[in-house]
Amino acid sequence: MAKPNPMCPIRIGEACSLCVPGTTGPEDCPLVAEVMRDPDLRARLAELRREHRAY
Ligand code: SF4
Repeated sequence: MAKPNPMCPIRIGEACSLCVPGTTGPEDCPLVAEVMRDPDLRARLAELRREHRAY
């Protein structure tokens, strides 16, 4: 049975396309980990999410 496709936390509104080689999903995505580690990027992501919801 196919696993449901998780959403990418960074590409808001898009499913994870495994764009980072060797990644199996958002859980072990190094790009997601990188953004979450950086307070400025995390704040920017929260802002983008708010904007996304506004449409
Ligand atoms: S591999 Fe990471 S950055 Fe790429 S779509 Fe999946 S969660 Fe998003």
